[in-house]
Amino acid sequence: MPSRVIFGASTRHQLAAELERLGLKRPLLLSTPQQVGMVANLGATLPQVAGYYGRATMHTPTHITEDALAQLQSLNADSLVALGGGSTTGLGKALALRSGLPQIVLPTTYAGSEMTPILGETQDGRKTTIRDLRVLPGTVIYDVELTLGLPVLISASSGMNALAHAAEALYAPDANPVTSLMALDAVRALARSLPRIVQNPSDLSARSDALYGAWLCGTVLGAVGMSLHHKLAHVLGGSFDLPHAESHAALLPHTVAYNAAGVPEVMRQLAGALGTDTAAAGRYALNGRLGNTLALRDLGMPESGIEEAADIAMEKPYPNPVPLERGRIRDLLACAWVGASPQ
Ligand code: NAD
Repeated sequence: MPSRVIFGASTRHQLAAELERLGLKRPLLLSTPQQVGMVANLGATLPQVAGYYGRATMHTPTHITEDALAQLQSLNADSLVALGGGSTTGLGKALALRSGLPQIVLPTTYAGSEMTPILGETQDGRKTTIRDLRVLPGTVIYDVELTLGLPVLISASSGMNALAHAAEALYAPDANPVTSLMALDAVRALARSLPRIVQNPSDLSARSDALYGAWLCGTVLGAVGMSLHHKLAHVLGGSFDLPHAESHAALLPHTVAYNAAGVPEVMRQLAGALGTDTAAAGRYALNGRLGNTLALRDLGMPESGIEEAADIAMEKPYPNPVPLERGRIRDLLACAWVGASPQ
């Protein structure tokens, strides 16, 4: 994907130079309500800003995008700067799609959206996704220091979200040797860094490894198609408003187990990169080690949602290494709902 990437520690201080290089003078700075202080500090490093919009929300609800678009137009901004995780990046992408303005993203989680031409938006309880190069950010500034304050539990679930992109990239129908190399190196980087971050969240070298892994995971997510795991995570977020990274983390051992028989060589590689015997059990154990919530019911999913989610997951066909069977998907969801070890 044709994005420019700047990676390192303290790289946020290069934002002013990057805006100047692009001839941009009036950025609208975006964040969630939780990160308004952080984005104000970033804005203070710039000669000029058009303004701030601090209401980015998970799953990119269209009413928030419309509210932000009205502010963007009234402030006469010439660019979008998103500081935050996938929620803020998603808002920036939705605004770029509607306004055509250039985007610079400073990621602060491991979601990886900054490297993809994918936008998911939610309206009336349904999340729909498009792939369109107009939403791909032009510049991504990874500053490891911006991730030091990412709370441990969000770091752990966000890291599993990244690992999910890598797992599905390895068995994507359009995978190629380069995306597979990136995916496997990402698994190694995240598997070694996430437990260290849980022990010491301000370990700069572990944070750097994790952000590097997230960069790779975002890249493969943007490059190849995803399968059952991403479909189910998408359904849980869009239809049950479950938190994004946490649902990915809880689902991943189960979706890997579902697909294991179809792609034994990929599973062997995944387990090797993770340093465990089997890919699914390894992910379940890693979740436990990182303190992630294992059960979908503990994330707020109603039990009745198991049948409904299985129905939605079967509505439209998509590629998957083993056949999609409603009964098996229902059983997978039931197992993840109680947080049992994967079958
Ligand atoms: P998020 O962006 O909502 O962040 C989670 C919480 O952590 C928020 O409250 C945020 O403000 C806070 N936070 C983030 N970084 C922080 C930091 N460094 N310090 C302190 N607090 C911090 O969650 P997410 O999991 O990063 O993103 C989820 C969203 O991204 C979903 O809407 C999902 O659909 C989307 N997503 C899209 C893609 C894509 O390619 N389109 C890929 C991955 C995720």
